Amino acid sequence: MNLAEWLVRTARRVPDAPALMHGATVVATYADFARRAARIATGLRQAHGIQPGDRVALFMENAPAYLELLYGIWWAGAVAVPINHKLHPREAAFILEDCGAGLVAASRPDEATRGMLGEGRVRLIDLAGDDHRTLLEHAPMEALEPVHSDALAWLFYTSGTTGRPKGVMLTVANLQAMTFAYFVDVDEVLAEDAALYAAPMSHGAGLYNFMHVLRGSRHVVPVSGGFDPAEILELAGSVGSLSMFAAPTMVRRLVSHAKAVGHDGTGIRTIVYGGGPMYVADIEEAVAALGERFVQIYGQGETPMTITALSRTEVADRAHPRWRERLGSVGRAQSCVEVRVADEDGRTLPSGKSGEILVRGPSVMAGYWRNPAATAESLRDDWLWTGDVGAMDADGYLTLMDRSKDVIISGGTNIYPREVEEVLLRHAAVAEVSVVGRPSAEWGEDVVAFVVAADGDAADPAALDAHCREAIARFKRPKAYHFVDELPKNNYGKVLKTELRKRLADAPVG
Ligand code: AMP
Repeated sequence: MNLAEWLVRTARRVPDAPALMHGATVVATYADFARRAARIATGLRQAHGIQPGDRVALFMENAPAYLELLYGIWWAGAVAVPINHKLHPREAAFILEDCGAGLVAASRPDEATRGMLGEGRVRLIDLAGDDHRTLLEHAPMEALEPVHSDALAWLFYTSGTTGRPKGVMLTVANLQAMTFAYFVDVDEVLAEDAALYAAPMSHGAGLYNFMHVLRGSRHVVPVSGGFDPAEILELAGSVGSLSMFAAPTMVRRLVSHAKAVGHDGTGIRTIVYGGGPMYVADIEEAVAALGERFVQIYGQGETPMTITALSRTEVADRAHPRWRERLGSVGRAQSCVEVRVADEDGRTLPSGKSGEILVRGPSVMAGYWRNPAATAESLRDDWLWTGDVGAMDADGYLTLMDRSKDVIISGGTNIYPREVEEVLLRHAAVAEVSVVGRPSAEWGEDVVAFVVAADGDAADPAALDAHCREAIARFKRPKAYHFVDELPKNNYGKVLKTELRKRLADAPVG
């Protein structure tokens, strides 16, 4: 099935319904949206020679045109390769080369961006110039290119917190399974809802388009193109029924802004959070400030959005005896996947024991693009080895410890940085923290904390140490504290522990 079929059907059903919005302004109905995608499909074919199966890259900022291009690419039977526009053109050049795209649409191609085109190997659609308009001048491609459900639809480059990004091959069937699981396990989507793209559409946020296209709901790209708490609260008032994905750092910023201006979240229907650890203290504060609007998902590019979910009620139900414990988990397996915790040999571990999280089901990727070695390492007997360490309780709630490579082994014992971070975050002087291992001749590794101090509070290592002693085993306490203005993060807001470890290696102190 061609993914654009969903757009075609919705455009037939509700042609006049508002589809694409830039801020609070409607820029396309569903009929317009479908017609534009059909015109772009012809343009890609005729003006750029795109054939079914060819890769077309998008190096774009968030914009309504993003969705038109995505659907135009699928309409023509081609494969979309969304690249985070915040990447350095050199990093984008690596992706272009790796995926073999012959065409890239770019928002504002400057000299550096043009430099990534490999001396003319890759053609450019310059969206700042007339190229988008020219594409839209083509006659609509009437029939969708027939596509098999096993065909590649989206090449999703991993965020690369370590090493080079890899191209995750997501098929039509993978994206369909993810979409259906969302309706069953994450949230319903109503016709009056508005998907808000406040995080990069090249990554998780972009995946929300499918549910909203199916339901004929609105797609809102904020005028800022990104995450601006004041703008989001304004759109909550003018657009209403917002549904958005937010990484934990975004949730924290939104909550602190909402509290500062006395906003209770009215107009925001759902905030789906995930993509990184959400600390219990933060989500408790978020629910207290904004109410029953939060749902957690745990997924990864290799099985997008679809491993576990913690429902709206589970997040908000303070009356439940195990509420807080569950809040610290990532919820239960989503309906279409099997999830288990296994030892190094792939044997399932009993509940409560921690090991690597394995996932099997129709949302799991077909493999890594042209990388059989990495594919063989991640996909074994149809099970995806996620690289995440976790434990499942007897009720099926999964708690994530850490990425397996972030686990600190000190004196032969595993220490999960997340546990230490949760404790430190409960201290008023700590705004943000990341805990990593530092090589130690005596212990193998020592625990070291990088701390961003809360405004105006003096951060005192002795006080933090006393705080840890009250909550966790002595051997888990950081041996050293480094106070920093900010933590290094990648373009998706994930803390780069590799970078912190490198800092320790380059300038061993403390
Ligand atoms: P990505 O493939 O870039 O989306 O990153 C996926 C990784 O982010 C997962 O393997 C986890 O390590 C982490 N992650 C995703 N969702 C959550 C969550 N809800 N809580 C904690 N970590 C998460």
